[in-house]
Amino acid sequence: MKVLKFGGTSVGTVESLTNVKKIVEAIPEPAVVVVSALGGLTDKLIATAGKASHDDPSYRDDMQAISFRHFNIISRVIDEGKRDEALRLVGGLLNDLSRLFDGISLIRHLPQQTLDMVVSFGERISSIIVAFMIDGGKRFDSLDFIKTEEWFGKNIADQKLTTSLIKEKFSVPFDKAIVPGFISTDRKTGNITNLGRGGSDFTAALIAAALDADLLEIWTDVDGFMTADPRIIPEAEVVPRMSFVESMELCTFGAKVIYPPTIYPVFHKNIPIKILNTFNPTAPGTLVSDSRMDSGFSIKGVSVLRSTPLFSIGSYSSVSNPESRALNALARQGVKIYPMTVSANAALNFAVAADDEEKARAILLSEFAPEIPSHPLLAPSIKGGLSTVAVVGENLKSQPRLGARIRNSLMRGGIAVEAFSDGMSDSTLTLLVDSQRANDALRIVHSLVV
Ligand code: ADP
Ligand code: ASP
Ligand code: MG
Repeated sequence: MKVLKFGGTSVGTVESLTNVKKIVEAIPEPAVVVVSALGGLTDKLIATAGKASHDDPSYRDDMQAISFRHFNIISRVIDEGKRDEALRLVGGLLNDLSRLFDGISLIRHLPQQTLDMVVSFGERISSIIVAFMIDGGKRFDSLDFIKTEEWFGKNIADQKLTTSLIKEKFSVPFDKAIVPGFISTDRKTGNITNLGRGGSDFTAALIAAALDADLLEIWTDVDGFMTADPRIIPEAEVVPRMSFVESMELCTFGAKVIYPPTIYPVFHKNIPIKILNTFNPTAPGTLVSDSRMDSGFSIKGVSVLRSTPLFSIGSYSSVSNPESRALNALARQGVKIYPMTVSANAALNFAVAADDEEKARAILLSEFAPEIPSHPLLAPSIKGGLSTVAVVGENLKSQPRLGARIRNSLMRGGIAVEAFSDGMSDSTLTLLVDSQRANDALRIVHSLVV
């Protein structure tokens, strides 16, 4: 059995939905099909909720456009015999959404929990449309089996509970199970939550792992995992094979192809992932697996993680182990760090995602509060306006000069490298550069290493 996931661009238009229908109906055995909201809809829902909360009456026009888009698609992709029922179900949800926007507008307040409810409508509706469109389609509701719990203010998947619920819900016979991606419910309160932006990939991986699928297919709008984002580097090439670790590293450092948490559950079960193009279904795509077959590329790709401030803390011989105390304090509170070397500075240096900057700063200030008055360099110095360029491949440690070569060509291109991570990992080398020059840096590094 395989699990397929179709992203927003694959379910955004009549043409793409027609491709989805062909691809899924051609599968001879039962399959699970996870779908995102119609392309661009999640952004639109967030923007519309924002308008409603700021008393901008144009939220009503947005709501109308959202309804029109869905009704128009239904009238064009769903067979006449099933259309009225689909319109009734989707119409009911759109009506609820419209009332929700009115409520937000009345109270002029948009707490996270309400926004989570708003964005859930995207996948709730798209999955109904796809279930009615596909012969043999039966909808399974993720709100019943994808469960999250709170962890340092974020909702994260409760994988154990989710796995047992998936096994239970999918124990009935089905031909094509159609599942809304991204959305979930809190295990304690039952409130609607989600797995984070891009999270439909993760929904598909959780299901693939729980049902011991043979394959997870991620259907998107490019021919596979490429050596760089083709929107920035048009000459980027498709990589036919890569390892789980390489894909995880590229996605962690900004390659949007797969949502990073997706890879863990299938990696543990050794379920391969294929990246395929809904608009070019016969292209071979990229196979992500743990086998070490030669792919023809020793460097699998380059990517950029935008906005990653650099933290530095000093060390004093009179303060024992400030580095490990800092790292422990950050890890205990769920802050992910990217270790870096800064030339001419022996203290602890690392980058974090911009979202974590404030939290990381507060944690370090509190950890070293007793010592900072007498040891001021223990207070973190933070440099913003930086982005991380990552180079990912196999056995990087066997190419000891690679980092220096990259830094030299960036320097020749007039790009200063603020920090780097040579030699820290066998699969990834990272460089911190001015965010304004990140795309230029990506181009230079891509042409040098790929
Ligand atoms: P979906 O809506 O199908 O989930 P996404 O927009 O999340 O699609 O991911 C696909 C996009 O990822 C591509 O259109 C491409 O621009 C971008 N991308 C970034 N890095 C890469 C890469 N290394 N290889 C392929 N695509 C990439
Ligand atoms: N629709 C959600 C988003 O845009 C989830 C997804 O597409 O995977 O983030
Ligand atoms: Mg995506």
